[in-house]
Amino acid sequence: MFADNGAVIRIEGLSKYYQMGDTTVRALDGVDLSVKSGEMLSIMGPSGCGKTTTLRMLAGLEEPSEGEIQLDGERINNVTVSERDTPMVWQSLALFPFLNVIKNVEFGLKMRGVPATERRRRALDWLERLEIAEFADREISQLSGGQQQRVALARSLVTEPRILLLDEPLSALDANLVVRMQGVLTKLQKELGITFVYVTHRQSEAFAMSDRVAIMNEGKIEQIDSAKGIYRNPATRFVAEFVGANNILTGTVIATDGEIEIDTPAGRFNCVESSDHNWSIGDTTSLVISADLIRLSTSAVNDKNEMECRFISEEFVGSIVTVLAETPDGADFRIQLQQRELSELDLTVGSTVYVRWDSHDAHLLRDTV
Ligand code: ADP
Ligand code: MG
Repeated sequence: MFADNGAVIRIEGLSKYYQMGDTTVRALDGVDLSVKSGEMLSIMGPSGCGKTTTLRMLAGLEEPSEGEIQLDGERINNVTVSERDTPMVWQSLALFPFLNVIKNVEFGLKMRGVPATERRRRALDWLERLEIAEFADREISQLSGGQQQRVALARSLVTEPRILLLDEPLSALDANLVVRMQGVLTKLQKELGITFVYVTHRQSEAFAMSDRVAIMNEGKIEQIDSAKGIYRNPATRFVAEFVGANNILTGTVIATDGEIEIDTPAGRFNCVESSDHNWSIGDTTSLVISADLIRLSTSAVNDKNEMECRFISEEFVGSIVTVLAETPDGADFRIQLQQRELSELDLTVGSTVYVRWDSHDAHLLRDTV
């Protein structure tokens, strides 16, 4: 199954079970994944879905229960961290509390026998890039969580590893600093050609930085794709609900020639499916329409994919507003538009609105639940 070339890391059928008394916790459940050389791959998912477990197994800190991990085509399942001459660096190992900031960052270079002046220069350079040079002589205990995270990043980047495993490396930073550090990391990652496996539960981080994003849920990978692919073509209901502001209408396929037509409790809607899935009449599926691809008006156009709803509320998010409407069968429906567009409609709570979308902008979920 791994026909793709250029993969540095390959994972096949990887599972991890923990025995907790009588119950078995499936932390990871048959994960397949390959990471290309120089790629920035994010693993995103809710807390407890298995992200850290995946990274820990890649790092050799945990042994797989089933499946295989390959590095450059070699099986490395049972090679422990200390036995591994691995190009993989685990970013979130704790800092040494008995060394100050610069000595923590220099540590990896010292182990490699880099002379003192050269090591100091390189360590300082990384502290500067991560905007923490002013703390070079501080003790680790004198730093905030966010500053410590950046020291840990500098320490792992200073050796310019081939592969860096990062577990929520920006989680303790303020929002504006997160955005700056995302920029710094993305730039360095591309410049140095380091392969990043980057775990985060933050969508903005994963989407802004990654070549591809893997969405995990309950120990399984639901979808791996570019950020745009995940956002516009969610494969499963979980991804559609987890990512973006999607409306999901579940129904039955009633026509498959040309556009696919779905009969739902809210009405009948059409979809132009780009995927190669063969839909048959009678199939149960869900139609997904992203809130930002929907038009809203106070009068009907009598077009297809139009639905009469009731205006419920509006929520401002900067210049964009999310309108909450109620479908004919009483479900929530979300529409995103510019604040200016909404003001022009002059809506009051309970008033009738019409929502409309293009058949090409609707998408069918692969899973049928
Ligand atoms: P994430 O990093 O996505 O938040 P983890 O990989 O840390 O999730 O954990 C995945 C699941 O495995 C969780 O249900 C967690 O409670 C469980 N788990 C992780 N480590 C252990 C362990 N050492 N013993 C028992 N259960 C564990
Ligand atoms: Mg974790």
